[in-house]
Amino acid sequence: EKQQGVALVIGVTGIVGNSLVEILPLSDTPGGPWKIYGVARRPKPDWSPDTPVEYIQCDVLDRKLTLEKISPLKDVTHLFWVVWVSRETEEQNCEDNGRMLSNVLDALLPNAENLQHICLQTGAKHYLGPFDAVARNRYFQPHEAPYHEELPRLPVPNFYYTLEDIVFEAAKKKDGLTWSIHRPSFIFGFSPWSLMNILGTLCVYAAICKHEGLPFKYPGNRITWEQFVDISDAELIAEQEIWAATYPHAKNQAFNCSNGDVLKWKRLWGIIAEKFDLEPLPYKGEGFSLAEAMKDKGPVWDALVRENKLHPTKIEEVGNWWFADFTLNLPQETVHSMNKSKEYGFFGFRNTETSLGQWIDKMKASNVVP
Ligand code: NAD
Repeated sequence: EKQQGVALVIGVTGIVGNSLVEILPLSDTPGGPWKIYGVARRPKPDWSPDTPVEYIQCDVLDRKLTLEKISPLKDVTHLFWVVWVSRETEEQNCEDNGRMLSNVLDALLPNAENLQHICLQTGAKHYLGPFDAVARNRYFQPHEAPYHEELPRLPVPNFYYTLEDIVFEAAKKKDGLTWSIHRPSFIFGFSPWSLMNILGTLCVYAAICKHEGLPFKYPGNRITWEQFVDISDAELIAEQEIWAATYPHAKNQAFNCSNGDVLKWKRLWGIIAEKFDLEPLPYKGEGFSLAEAMKDKGPVWDALVRENKLHPTKIEEVGNWWFADFTLNLPQETVHSMNKSKEYGFFGFRNTETSLGQWIDKMKASNVVP
């Protein structure tokens, strides 16, 4: 069988990285059969999908190491950028995330002669503004939802803009090199190592509530409880990235990527509660910080892991409390228009309630949560 695409997935153990390496090897995946290289900072974890991936341990912030490990991958045709590092300020985010992408491109561009396409994953903060700006209560006016791809950039530093500019420059340097940018909303998927796994975090919270007999209270605000939000299934994002990477008419474009339905956290809260045999309390107007409430729960999680023979994780890895506080306390509705993606020919969608149930089942079956 003839090999077609050769994928290099940077961030292979992350929330979308995991789905990419589940989907790329399937026999009906466009552009296949794919050969896959997967890069992450740490050694391959044993919950990683059991699919044919050449796993490469490399910290892409380290320029020397990156040139050493990535330059020999001369057969790469498609780069999938599903990685980020989190820093104190957005200026530092721009600096370090930009440096990572430049390191990898500097290794690939002179060596991977057949490099055809770069898939860059960014997200909703393109429209909403970066974490520090949103948290500092806006020194700019964010865009109003529904967000569409052609909205102008916000007048604040944003590492997403830095990454886009690096990709645009790379495409100018190499004939025939194309790109696509993917902007998901909050992602439902599987990765005990993700920096931002909202569903995994809420499952850990639910398991702790169940274990300690605590009420399953909503740590958000009225806006997210009552207004519409959208969610992005990690597999759907992987499908859209592979579509754009292989479909000629989707080149050099940015695409939103959300499930295609809207929902309220009010409703999802009930479904999560049911999965963990808890009573879903209605939100009564008093929010609280999950980061604060969970700060001493490390030993409780350790006990839960032990008693349920779960895959060993630290609470800091699987409970991204700051991210749950951010997600559930947004100052405004976030909904993405999927019109452009459909107009260009990507018709994928997910039913968010079904997606939520499936990812919780997957976390339970993989022994990440009880
Ligand atoms: P993630 O945090 O789930 O995974 C990142 C992966 O990169 C992990 O495999 C990690 O081991 C690896 N990694 C981290 N630093 C590395 C380094 N220096 N060298 C090599 N590997 C390294 O990633 P994600 O959430 O898919 O994030 C990708 C992009 O998607 C980011 O720009 C993020 O802001 C955006 N996004 C995420 C969400 C979400 O809900 N998670 C939502 C919207 C947008």
